[in-house]
Amino acid sequence: MAEFKYCRNCGKQLEPGARVCMGCGVPVGTGHRYCWNCGSGTDEEAVVCVACGVGLVPKSGRPPERAAAQPGAKSKVAAGLLGIFLGWLGIHNFYLGFTSKAVTQLILGILGIVTFGVTTWISGIWGFVEGILALTGGIPADAEGKPLAD
Ligand SMILES: [Zn+2]
Ligand SMILES: [Zn+2]
Repeated sequence: MAEFKYCRNCGKQLEPGARVCMGCGVPVGTGHRYCWNCGSGTDEEAVVCVACGVGLVPKSGRPPERAAAQPGAKSKVAAGLLGIFLGWLGIHNFYLGFTSKAVTQLILGILGIVTFGVTTWISGIWGFVEGILALTGGIPADAEGKPLAD
C-alpha cells in the first residue's frame, strides 16, 4: 500500500510517516470523505478516487485487492497476442492507440512486397517484442495513460 498523504477523515495533509492525523486525531487511513493520495473529496462508497484514480476503501466494506480496472481499459493479453501475431501490421499499436507507431509498422509490413520481405521482418520482430513486453507488463498503459487490465 502506498503511503497516505492526506487524512481520509478531514482531508488535512499528513506529515510523512504519520500514524495519526494532526487535524482530527483519527488513525491515518480512517474515514471515507477525502482521497488519501490527492486530498480531494470522495464519495463514502467510492472505491476509486475520480480525481487521481487511486483505489479507496469504501465505507461499506473492503475494496477489491487491486483497484478495479478502469472502464474501457485495454487488455494486456489482447495487446500481447496482437503484437505477436499481427505486430507486423501494427495492429497492437492501433489497439492501444499509439497510432503513429502503428502506421509506421503497417507501412514497413506492407513495404515487404517491394523489399523482398525485409521490412516486414523488421516490423514483425518489432511487433513481436512489443507483444512480449505487453504480456509481461513492460507496456503499463495505453496511449491515453490508462493502465492495461490483465
Ligand atoms: Zn484528519
Ligand atoms: Zn485522489
